[in-house]
Amino acid sequence: MTRILLTNDDGIHSEGIKQLAGELELIGDVEVTVVAPDREQSACSHALTLHRPLRIRKLAERWHAVDGTPTDCVNLAVLWMLRDEPPDLIVSGINFGLNLGDDVTYSGTVSATFEGSLLGIPSLAFSQEVGEGFSYQPGASFARRMVEEMLDNGGVEHGLLLNVNFPVGDFRGVHFTRLGRRVYKQSITQKTDPRGRKYFWIAGTPEWEREEGNDHHAIASSYVSITPLHLDLTDYPRLRDIGPLGDRFANLVDHG
Ligand code: MN
Repeated sequence: MTRILLTNDDGIHSEGIKQLAGELELIGDVEVTVVAPDREQSACSHALTLHRPLRIRKLAERWHAVDGTPTDCVNLAVLWMLRDEPPDLIVSGINFGLNLGDDVTYSGTVSATFEGSLLGIPSLAFSQEVGEGFSYQPGASFARRMVEEMLDNGGVEHGLLLNVNFPVGDFRGVHFTRLGRRVYKQSITQKTDPRGRKYFWIAGTPEWEREEGNDHHAIASSYVSITPLHLDLTDYPRLRDIGPLGDRFANLVDHG
């Protein structure tokens, strides 16, 4: 029996999580437990709720809503609700909208898998491009076949953390990618409210570095993008060669 914990950041009532749950339940010898936010929590990043109580509401057998973030859901599920039989795999999504490149640091969908990874559980994040011909179905079905493939081949790899994005329309294939770089243009708008006070709106048209091998390029070419992630943010090349600032910083300690 493989236990899968399913969560998301669009909320437990979103279509993406329902379709993904439906597909994952088709896999033989699998038990899917859904623990997801009770409302939309997109762009909440890796937020953890520490300053107010959290409540769990059971909506159906193995369907639980939490009044918190995706990270809260993963913690409550793994460390409390499923503590006697912890999940073998954490799945997040399918998100309404892509989670590519630099945006993964804002993403609640991906952060749920970061939390899974921190808890030592292999984790997969799924996001769907929105556009003409939008449907969750091809992605949900692909996600199910991915999990089946892993289970058929010796189980889920320890430490696995994958960020998967689906293009709209037919999939031309699969590309294994690195995270792309985003360039936002005119991302802050300033206006004046009816009381004469200024307010600001963070919005803009994202533009992506067009570079072969990154996740954005794969999606733009109608390929499923799979990016293996890890949580070690260390800049290893710079650590190896810290440059002239290394000596200068080292000398800042006052030994007197
Ligand atoms: Mn979302």
